[in-house]
Amino acid sequence: MISRLIPAILVVVALATAGCAPDEYVAPPPVQGSEVADPATAATTLASFQGAVVAGDATVAGDLAADDDARVLLEAVADNARALDLTDVTFRYVTETGKTQGDDAWEGLVAVTWRIQGFDEASARLEIPMSFADGGRRIATIGSGPARLPVWLSGPATVRRVPGALVLSSDNGADRTAYSRWARRAVEEAREVVGGRAGLVVEIPSDTAALHRALGADPGSYSAIAAVTAPVDGSRVKGSPVHVFVNPPVYDELDPVAAQVVMTHEAVHALTGAVLARSVPLWLVEGFADYVALRDVALPLSKTAGQIMKQVRRNGVPKSLPADSEFNPSGTHLGTVYEAAWQVAATLADRGGESALVAFYRALLAGKDFGPALRTSFAWSTADLTAAWQARLAGLAGVSE
Ligand SMILES: [Zn+2]
Repeated sequence: MISRLIPAILVVVALATAGCAPDEYVAPPPVQGSEVADPATAATTLASFQGAVVAGDATVAGDLAADDDARVLLEAVADNARALDLTDVTFRYVTETGKTQGDDAWEGLVAVTWRIQGFDEASARLEIPMSFADGGRRIATIGSGPARLPVWLSGPATVRRVPGALVLSSDNGADRTAYSRWARRAVEEAREVVGGRAGLVVEIPSDTAALHRALGADPGSYSAIAAVTAPVDGSRVKGSPVHVFVNPPVYDELDPVAAQVVMTHEAVHALTGAVLARSVPLWLVEGFADYVALRDVALPLSKTAGQIMKQVRRNGVPKSLPADSEFNPSGTHLGTVYEAAWQVAATLADRGGESALVAFYRALLAGKDFGPALRTSFAWSTADLTAAWQARLAGLAGVSE
């Protein structure tokens, strides 16, 4: 059962390593001016649309639609904005992309900004393809192919609020009420350890393809994971909104305990800003999240640490703390390395208590150097920590070192 968690928990790893698609801004290709595009008219239409979205006025938004499908979409965007209590909402025409459909319709890039009041510290900003019709007086579509497309701009959705969390769910007929409970408890469990008052935003796209669009990720790259904590617009600048994104087909298969563990693990990443931190060893980022998520879970170690115990029995204890490269999502021993990382965090908590572990985690997120922080919080060197962790693993596996 817990092994099912492992691919789910990979999420942040992929994001924390450089070169991951969601973090990279891709500049739009240069375009040739066309005879069709009318930027001034499109800009005026977008100004009207922005006004409707800011006001949460679905009727006014819908009246800008090119056809019935577009009307459903534009009305939904206005409704979603109101339900999310969005602020800093802007739609600004940037340029045409060169794709035309007939003599009065074309696709352009639109710079969109938004922020969820009470949750996001700063605004998200994305350039999103939108197509215009009727010489720019109407909006036909938002998003194009695999281009990055936020959930709130992709169609009808439901927003549920619980203390400390907000869950945005695309309407696809599925019952998503349980997610609110998981999100609420995830916030409670995370805050109990790390404190703070920041709120959690969970986004549930309609399906896996929509998840990849929401993340701006290559199709397939997150198909096997249950949830991912990621910057909403791919930006890793401090203050960028970071939300938890769910992959419904995988998450919905988790049993309730595993679903809670995954949500709490992700909440720790999101609420502590771990996704935006740099130079923090992944064993600490992932091990700490698991420490919190598994802290109050009554499962035997044979379930939660079975893979690392098996490896220790077979090969002896690892020679060194897990390297960042071992968290590569395409690696073959991921479950083992997550369990190993969790046990490093547990070793630290045993040494200095939970408050020392939290202080150490926070110090590293704040940019402190590893060695001095380890010494300050635990009076240990890396060698001391490694030895204590190895002894712990040997003890769990019932072998001598
Ligand atoms: Zn993680």
